[in-house]
Amino acid sequence: MLDKLAEHYRAIIEGLGEDANREGLVDTPMRAAKAMQFLCKGYDQDLETIVNGAVFESDTDEMVMVKDIELYSMCEHHMLPFIGRCHIAYLPRGKVLGLSKFARIVDMYARRMQIQENLTKQIAEAVQSVTNARGVGVIVEARHMCMMMRGVEKQNSSMVSSVMLGSMRNDMATRAEFLNLAKGHFGL
Ligand code: ZN
Repeated sequence: MLDKLAEHYRAIIEGLGEDANREGLVDTPMRAAKAMQFLCKGYDQDLETIVNGAVFESDTDEMVMVKDIELYSMCEHHMLPFIGRCHIAYLPRGKVLGLSKFARIVDMYARRMQIQENLTKQIAEAVQSVTNARGVGVIVEARHMCMMMRGVEKQNSSMVSSVMLGSMRNDMATRAEFLNLAKGHFGL
């Protein structure tokens, strides 16, 4: 699989008019193949394995929020990176999720070819399904290389997407609490 990917990268390099045999490029196809495999390793992961039972009983029912989780993903339209941060909040219902698992969930979905809107939704639904929370809110802010480096070349624009589930969606006070906790981030 890796050899095949490297072969394709070699064809891309040549397709761009480069000499794939020159010294600086001779090992590039294999390096690029390995890098892309790493950036897409989320395809080999599943929710159950990464959570690995780290869901704990708790009687807290107050909002829990994990802020500023770094996020690196790949836009599925251009295969260029988009880079940003993610906030996740949830309202526990008898169960809480181990802190590091939020970052793992973000990584698993980010390390695939994505659009930001779907990524945000997948993170929210994963947290919901693992914790059975009363409500889940996810905000992602990211800068897209396909927008910054090509096309309109708008280098300071970023995109904010949010998904709210359950009482985070239906209860105005809860929703306001979430947005208030997220304040100061993302220019909110
Ligand atoms: Zn794009």
